[in-house]
Amino acid sequence: MGDDIDDARIRRLVIVGGGTAGWLTAALLARALGSQLKITLVESAEIGTVGVGEATIPQILHVNRFLGIDEDDMLRAVHGTFKLGVQLNDFTRVGESYLHAFGDLGLPLGLTPFHHYWLRSRGRPGAHGLWAHSLNAAAAAQNRFARLDKVPNSPLGGIRYAYHFDASLYGQYLRKHIAPGIVERIEGKIVDVRLHAEDGHIESLLLDNGSTVEGDFFIDCSGFRGLLIEGALKTGYENWQHWLPCDRALAVGSAPGGPMRPYTQALARTAGWQWRIPLQTRTGNGHVYCSRFISDDEAAAQLLGTLETEPLGDPRPLRFVTGMRKLAWNRNCLALGLAAGFMEPLESTSIHLVQSGVNRLLAMFPDRHCDPKLIDEYNRQTRFEYERVRDFLILHYKATERTDTPFWRQCGAMEIPPELARRIELFRRTGMIFREGEELFAETGWLQVLLGQRIEPARHHPLADELSDQQLDHFLADVRTLVGRAVATLPPHHEFVARHCGMPAPAEV
Ligand SMILES: Cc1cc2nc3c(=O)[nH]c(=O)nc-3n(C[C@H](O)[C@H](O)[C@H](O)COP(=O)(O)OP(=O)(O)OC[C@H]3O[C@@H](n4cnc5c(N)ncnc54)[C@H](O)[C@@H]3O)c2cc1C
Repeated sequence: MGDDIDDARIRRLVIVGGGTAGWLTAALLARALGSQLKITLVESAEIGTVGVGEATIPQILHVNRFLGIDEDDMLRAVHGTFKLGVQLNDFTRVGESYLHAFGDLGLPLGLTPFHHYWLRSRGRPGAHGLWAHSLNAAAAAQNRFARLDKVPNSPLGGIRYAYHFDASLYGQYLRKHIAPGIVERIEGKIVDVRLHAEDGHIESLLLDNGSTVEGDFFIDCSGFRGLLIEGALKTGYENWQHWLPCDRALAVGSAPGGPMRPYTQALARTAGWQWRIPLQTRTGNGHVYCSRFISDDEAAAQLLGTLETEPLGDPRPLRFVTGMRKLAWNRNCLALGLAAGFMEPLESTSIHLVQSGVNRLLAMFPDRHCDPKLIDEYNRQTRFEYERVRDFLILHYKATERTDTPFWRQCGAMEIPPELARRIELFRRTGMIFREGEELFAETGWLQVLLGQRIEPARHHPLADELSDQQLDHFLADVRTLVGRAVATLPPHHEFVARHCGMPAPAEV
């Protein structure tokens, strides 16, 4: 290798922030590039972390595999449970509920996606709901869970799952999991960021004890404040509040109790929605709301009035602006986590966006010059990913039939991004959905939310007409039988957790 190339290599990488984003990034980079990089992570106990985040999506399992983490050990440490999907309540009409389940829906037959057969069956005698053909949905409905890669003796795929956990504990778990000596942790408050006079790259950080931390490349995981990407580099923020208007949250834990549901609940309220997430040691609750339509006191009253068990403290307030940083990567600084942008946790995407940002960085790992073409490509892909997630979330609000409060009336009437409008219209007219490139949510995710929000396709794909009526009925009935048989073999979720990853009972006093 030539000297020039060698000299330009990034040797010193600095991560600012020790929240979930910071430690997840540190763990992944240490595993991938630990022998080549000196990694330093700066965090401040005085500032602390955002301290919320409890639901994830199945892609998080890749983190465990890559890092060689034992899933049961991790779940014990983070008070975790399993998640099969998100149940969305009252978003379309008050009293209506549907599930966005992970995993497959039915079975494809030939070239035709399953849902076209199901669409064709609507209106036939004895027709069943879509979710009767999903193993994840059927297991969720009965509070059952097991790890199941494949349903034995059947063409059905297995259970696809994610976790509910305490994200702060997850960050700490990852920290302990990093091999000793690879990441240097510095406790201290950054009070200044120094830039190179020539190219405006970040040169060093000044800490409150007078010491400096120098680096070739900086990752900003400093949370909403975006200390480097915004504070120092003035990158700018794109505001999406006109589409995702919620701007505050109140979070409170409540005593564990009731069924340990293997799914997240999102419960629409008069000016936002509430999450309910079962952990082993508590239920996580939070009310995400729009301050233009409800006062903080009223939001707190709605939250506390609908907890299933006793609150474990006072609700903790959080404020945010939905949107994304205009550039996630600017000069020699990459923003991840809340520093890169924020979309409300309706589909639990934030931790995943950190993970995929690190993957993208690894795929495009730069040298110290940070080629602008590479930066452009990273930012182009990041924008694509964020915008598709954003559109998926907007769909939950836009496609409402609720007119009972000013908030929901505004959501139903708002203008939406053209790409989302196109997708909805295509589905309404043809029943067709196409995943674009590597967008996060696959056809089955879009399908469930489109149908759950009562967008009814006018027709199904002509390929689904290849079966006779009788063949169609048999095919769908066979899928339901396979699903039913498979679910009957699964244990209750709480039993599975207790047996495999249950936390030790507290010692008797
Ligand atoms: C209401 C709400 C609910 C959420 N729910 C979910 C969910 O269910 N699922 C999900 O995936 N995500 C969720 N998220 C997002 C999730 O919480 C974050 O993505 C995740 O915790 C990462 O946060 P972070 O590490 O970027 O920031 P933070 O946790 O805020 O960490 C910032 C770090 O930077 C450090 N820092 C800041 N300034 C300085 C300084 N001057 N000097 C030194 N250090 C500094 C801090 O000390 C801290 O260590 C939710 C977020 C909110 C607001």
